[in-house]
Amino acid sequence: MSILQNDIQYVPGVGPKRADILGKEIGVFTVGDLLRWYPYRYIDRSRVYYIHEIDQSVAYIQLKGTITSFETFGEGRRRRLVAHFTDGTGFVDLVWFQGIRYIEGKYKVNREYLVFGKPTLFNNRWNIAHPEIDPFMNEEGAPTGLMAMYNTTEKMKNHYLNSKAMQKIIENAFGLIKSPLPETLSPDVIHAAKLMPFHDAIENIHFPKTAALLRRAEFRLKFEELFYIQLNIARYTAERKEKLKGFLFSKVGDCLHTFYKRQLPFPLTRAQKRVIKEIRRDTASGKQMNRLLQGDVGSGKTVVAIMCMLIALDNGFQACLMAPTEILAYQHFETFRQMLKGMNVRVELLTGSTRKKEREQIHEGLQSGEVNILIGTHALIEDEVQFHNLGFVVIDEQHRFGVAQRAKLWKKNKQPPHVLVMTATPIPRTLAMTVYGDLEVSVIDELPPGRKPVQTLHRYDQKRGPLYQFVRGQLQAGRQAYIVYPLIEESEKLDLKNLEEGYEHVKAAFPEFSVSKMHGRMKPAEKEEVMRRFVANETQIMVSTTVIEVGVNVPNASVMLIESAQRFGLSQLHQLRGRVGRGADQSYCVLITPYEISSDTRERMKMMTESNDGFVIAEADLKLRGPGDLEGTQQSGIPFDLRIADIVHDSAILYRAREIAAEVIAGDPRLEQPQHRVLKQQLDRLGGNRYEWSRIS
Ligand code: ADP
Ligand code: MG
Repeated sequence: MSILQNDIQYVPGVGPKRADILGKEIGVFTVGDLLRWYPYRYIDRSRVYYIHEIDQSVAYIQLKGTITSFETFGEGRRRRLVAHFTDGTGFVDLVWFQGIRYIEGKYKVNREYLVFGKPTLFNNRWNIAHPEIDPFMNEEGAPTGLMAMYNTTEKMKNHYLNSKAMQKIIENAFGLIKSPLPETLSPDVIHAAKLMPFHDAIENIHFPKTAALLRRAEFRLKFEELFYIQLNIARYTAERKEKLKGFLFSKVGDCLHTFYKRQLPFPLTRAQKRVIKEIRRDTASGKQMNRLLQGDVGSGKTVVAIMCMLIALDNGFQACLMAPTEILAYQHFETFRQMLKGMNVRVELLTGSTRKKEREQIHEGLQSGEVNILIGTHALIEDEVQFHNLGFVVIDEQHRFGVAQRAKLWKKNKQPPHVLVMTATPIPRTLAMTVYGDLEVSVIDELPPGRKPVQTLHRYDQKRGPLYQFVRGQLQAGRQAYIVYPLIEESEKLDLKNLEEGYEHVKAAFPEFSVSKMHGRMKPAEKEEVMRRFVANETQIMVSTTVIEVGVNVPNASVMLIESAQRFGLSQLHQLRGRVGRGADQSYCVLITPYEISSDTRERMKMMTESNDGFVIAEADLKLRGPGDLEGTQQSGIPFDLRIADIVHDSAILYRAREIAAEVIAGDPRLEQPQHRVLKQQLDRLGGNRYEWSRIS
C-alpha cells in the first residue's frame, strides 16, 4: 500500500479529532487527499503594497497597516461595516456586508494587520470588500517568498485549522514521504506536454521554491486534470464510433425539394445553409450523428430543424422534436403546420395535456408510420410512445432536459436515431468541449437580414413614470410588451406575490389595455390559452415570470421590462431579451434595478446594454459566475471534480490536453499498452464511466 493511502490521523499534528473534521468538512481522509488539497492562492510575502501605489491596474494586493476605526451604515439586510485602514501613505475602507458581528469581535483598532483583497474605487475612495486579514507577525524564519493559502471552513477554523495550520500539516505529511511519489501520467504524455514529475509538482504547489517552479507545478497539475477529462471523452468517442452505426440518409427527395421550392418564405442565411450541409454530411456518412447546434436567439434554428427532419422523411424515417415546455411545443407545432401547409406530411403534437383519445390515435399513427413528425414535451419520452421508424431527433433548448431523459429517447429504436440538440444559450467552446465532450458543434453565427438589434437600457426602479410613458407610446403604436418578474425557486411564494402585485399595478397603470399574466404554476392549458391570446394581440401586455424565457415567438412584441434585473444571470437576461426584436420594428429591453446595486451588478447591466452578442455574454457569464452556475452544467455537470484547472482561464492547457489525449487514443484506443496502464488506472479511479449519457447529446 502506498503512503498516499495512509489515514491522515497519523500525520503529525492531526490526530483523530482533526482527522474527523477534515474528512467531514473537506473530504480529506488520506495523505493523498491532503496533498491534493491545493492552495487557492499564494501571498507574495516579498511584496507589500503601499496604499498610495494602488491604481486601477492592480488586481489583488497585500497591504500592511492598522485599522483606525469601525463604522456601520444602513439597516437590516443593507447593513454594512466599514473599517478605516491606513498604512501612513493613504486610506482604504475595508467593507463587509455579512458576518459583521464576527468581524467586529475579531479585529481590533491600532493593531498591525496584513490585508489581502481586491481594491475597487467607490465614491472616490479605495475600498476592499470582504478582505482577508491576518495579524502581521514578524516571526523569525517566516517564509520570505511565496506562501500558500488554503481554503478552510468555519468549523475548521473553530478547531484552529486555519490556512496556516493546514500548511503545517501538509508540510508534516510531505515529510513522511521518503521516496518520490509515483507518476500519475504515462511517459509519452509527460514527454509530449513537457511536464515536471508529479512529485516535484506536488512539492512546488505547496512549497514553491520560485515563481517559475510554481508555474510549472500548476501547469502540470492543471494539465493532468484536464487531460483525464479529455482522455475519457476520446476513449468513449472512439468506442462509440466503432460500435454505433447510424441510419443512412442517402438521398434528398420530394419533401425537401417541395419545401425548398414552394414553402420556404425567405432565403436561408449563409450560416443556415452551412449548418444544413454539415448535418447532411453527417447523416449520409453511415455513422450516428450527435450534433449540438448553437445559434443566438432569433438566428433561425427552427427552419434548419424542419429541413433536416424532411430529409429524414425523404429517406423513409420519422422525426420528432422535443421542446422543454408546452408553450414551446405548441408554438413549434404551429410553425411546422404553417410551414408545411399543403404538403403531404402529417405532424402531430403530444404533450402532457393531450386528451386520452387523441393520444391513442397519435400512438397508433406513430406505430403504423402514418405520423411523420411528432412534436412534444417530455410526454414524448414516455414508454408507451413507440415509433415505427424514428430516424431523427431534435431537442430544442437542450439545457432544460435532464441527462436521464435524453437517454430514454435514445432507446426509442433498435438503432439510435441521429440527434440534433439546439440551444440558444451559447456555450463557450471550452465548456462545450468539456461538458458535451464528443458532440460535434455547429454554429449559426448570423442573424436573418433586416433585424434591428434590440436596444437595451438600464433604469432605476424609482422612476417608473417615464418608463410607463414609453411603454404606453409603443402600445399606442400597436406593439405589445412583456413585463418580467424573477422567479427563484427557494422563494417561489414570495416571487408569486411579487408577480401578483406587479400584475395589479400594471393593470392599474394601463387601464386602456388588456393585461395577461403567466407563471410556472399555472396549468399547461391555462398557459397555452394566455399565450394564444397574447399571440393574437387580444392582450397587449404580458406580465410573467421567466416561463417565457426560451423560444417564445411573438414578433409584434417590441418592449420588455425586466424587473429586479439584478437577480438574473447574464445569459438568462440575454435569453429574455431575445423575446423582443423578432419583428421588423426597433425593439427595446429595459433592465430595472434598485438604485443601490453592487459594482458587479452595475458591470453586468453595462455588459447587457453594450452587447447583443450571445457568445460574448456567455463568456462573460462564465467568467463571472464560474462554470458550476452556468445553465446546462447543473444537470450535466463537469464530470470530474476540477481542483486546480479552470476551463475559462486555462483554455490553452485544455486544448493541448485534448490534442494529446486524442493522440494517445489514436495509437492505443483501449489503453492496452503497458506504458498506458497508469492512464487506465487513473481513469477508473476517477470514475470514468460517467460518460454513458453523452451518447444522446
Ligand atoms: P431561434 O433560433 O431563436 O429558434 P427561430 O427559428 O424561432 O429562431 O427564428 C426566428 C424568426 O426568424 C422566425 O420568425 C423565423 O421565421 C425567422 N427566420 C428564420 N430564418 C430566417 C431567414 N433566413 N430569413 C428571414 N427570417 C428568418
Ligand atoms: Mg427556437
